[in-house]
Amino acid sequence: MMRSISSGLIGWLGGLFLFLSTAQGAPLNQALTTLHQPVPGGVAIVEINTKPTKGAAPEVRFLEKRVLTTRDDAGRSFAIVGIPLSTKPGVHHITLSTGSVKSTLSFEVRDKTYREQRITLKTNKHVHLSDEDLARYKREATLQDNAYQQFSPTHPSNLILDRPVDAPLSSPFGLKRYFNGEARAPHSGLDFAAPTGTPIKAPAAGTVILTGDFFFNGKTVFVDHGQGMISMFCHLSVIGVSEGQKLERGQVLGKVGATGRVTGAHLHWNVSLNDARVDPAIFIGMFSP
Ligand SMILES: [Zn+2]
Repeated sequence: MMRSISSGLIGWLGGLFLFLSTAQGAPLNQALTTLHQPVPGGVAIVEINTKPTKGAAPEVRFLEKRVLTTRDDAGRSFAIVGIPLSTKPGVHHITLSTGSVKSTLSFEVRDKTYREQRITLKTNKHVHLSDEDLARYKREATLQDNAYQQFSPTHPSNLILDRPVDAPLSSPFGLKRYFNGEARAPHSGLDFAAPTGTPIKAPAAGTVILTGDFFFNGKTVFVDHGQGMISMFCHLSVIGVSEGQKLERGQVLGKVGATGRVTGAHLHWNVSLNDARVDPAIFIGMFSP
């Protein structure tokens, strides 16, 4: 009797040790656990093969857009799927293709309730647009839409991102916003309460794919981190980089400011996966469900 209890205990301890050592030996899996927040505006981690394989990972798409994939130390592959804020809770599918062979995998999106925010702007310039401003906005929207649709083959240098500024978080992602009492698009990024002039650092390595001084976003930098993971930094006082420039993780790309549609100086940071704007707080381990 004693023997079976102690061997059971040893077996249990051995299993626990194996679990802990696997967890400690696989930082990528910890990153994926952090990133798995399957809500509208969140991220779903979907394992795309169960057997370790040396072959190329299949091409994965969600809503027809290419999806970031990664592989852990044990050779298991995962899709890191950006879930648009407009997605309905329930079962959704990604498609996998390897050559001409196609298959689908399902994943579940949970519900999440986002708060409302009422913002008062001093003028209505950014609420009721003149014809001229509307035409300008449309031109700029096309440039920015194109930037978000980039898919370069490089794997991101890091999936858990560094904070671009050392400052407290202010407006969270997903707020349903009313400007001077009128409903507008929900907040597509995360704000940091940083004063004008604060240096902004690249949260991962990447390439500058777009810079500009835009109607809503002010002075803006887009960074392609690879495989459809794109950062956008807005309302800058100074853009310190140029299109085509390669950035190392942590390299300064500009300074915080108050350009565009703002009530004061702050950094607005968007993170996009497969052309879906997702909550940047997920990538810095600050997500609140
Ligand atoms: Zn913002």
